[in-house]
Amino acid sequence: MDNEEKMTPESARLEHCPHCGSVETKNFVYFRRGEKIRVYNECARCGRFVSRYTLAGYTSDKTYESLLARIREWRLASGKRTLGIVEAFGDDVQQEYERVRELVDRQEDPRKIEEIISEDFSAPRE
Ligand SMILES: [Zn+2]
Repeated sequence: MDNEEKMTPESARLEHCPHCGSVETKNFVYFRRGEKIRVYNECARCGRFVSRYTLAGYTSDKTYESLLARIREWRLASGKRTLGIVEAFGDDVQQEYERVRELVDRQEDPRKIEEIISEDFSAPRE
């Protein structure tokens, strides 16, 4: 069978602790100047390392207007640069969030996250 054919166009899954299976996790957000933001994901039940995410962007729960106002308040000069990383919450985010919740509720991908990435999403985009 051609590998392209069994690839799913989208997939969603709760992250499970590989050690105890729990889906309750804590995110430790790490900032280091000049580097992308990294998130260390730790199991809230057994306290062990689950995964690390490197962020291309961060979407907060704030709308564009309130985000802009807050950023201006904090630091006028870096407002534009900050907006390049911090994305505003909008209808597109809400819709995708609902879609992901629905996918997980209806047909959560049973594969491990590494398997999903290697089987369906490892080919270069664009
Ligand atoms: Zn655990």
